[in-house]
Amino acid sequence: MRTVYLNGAFVAESNATVSIFDRGLLFADAVYEVFSVLDGQIIDHAPHMARLKRSLAEMTIDHDVGAADWETVLATLIERNALEEGTIYLQISRGAADRDFLFPPAGTVPTVFAFTQARNLVANPMAERGMRILTRPDRRWGRRDIKTVQLLYASMMKMDAKAAGVDDVWLVEGDVITEGTSQNACIITPAGHLVTRNLGDHILPGVTRRTLIGIAQASGVTVEERPFTIAEAQGAAEAFVTSATLFVMPVVQIDGLAVGDGAPGVHTMALRKAYIDHARATG
Ligand code: PLP
Repeated sequence: MRTVYLNGAFVAESNATVSIFDRGLLFADAVYEVFSVLDGQIIDHAPHMARLKRSLAEMTIDHDVGAADWETVLATLIERNALEEGTIYLQISRGAADRDFLFPPAGTVPTVFAFTQARNLVANPMAERGMRILTRPDRRWGRRDIKTVQLLYASMMKMDAKAAGVDDVWLVEGDVITEGTSQNACIITPAGHLVTRNLGDHILPGVTRRTLIGIAQASGVTVEERPFTIAEAQGAAEAFVTSATLFVMPVVQIDGLAVGDGAPGVHTMALRKAYIDHARATG
């Protein structure tokens, strides 16, 4: 049984309970982060914490990330659960208060928790075969830059993909791709440039995206942060997604059309290796 963290204590997962009045439960009034762990070390700790801080500020949730000593909490979770490879999920809600659309008065104590999930991140068979994806309208709310727990539309779209026998969905506005259901979307143009949607309130500023852009630029790859269409992605040399759990994952088919030769691209696989090497070296 896992040991999880809840409101200042490390407890067995079966003893970790929250109030039915928690605003995370009633209004999705909560933010979260997912950290990957490789060789028992957290990857990209600082940028995940910076994004958490920003999400909390945008939602005016009163939690001081620095004072909470999350670094020690996460290290303790890794140790107590003997986590070598996997993820840590961390959530902070506005706390429990009698149900009301209006935010509760100042002084309401946020509910904070974190738990580990062991899984193979490097030896993921999908990296060998590549992902097949569908495109679907992006019907999420307009503040996708805040990492909130309102993930129902993403969940529905992943079920759509599963029902269609493919791996995931890329979300589109008009014919322009915003991002994946839980990843940032990227393509490699025939000229070898890495293209990914520019930041704004329409997409989540992915930590993996950010780190990978740095790695790509350092190795001489031209990076273009701009919108791209479904047609441009289908006609691209390569396509891939980035996320804390998938790292860099090749996309080989979009709406039934093969990308490039229909196999994981060489640039993509080189970037995947470079990202994993970087994560291991800096974790
Ligand atoms: N976009 C969305 C909508 C996500 O949910 C996620 C991760 O969960 C990402 C992008 C990738 O972000 P990161 O690289 O920080 O995991």
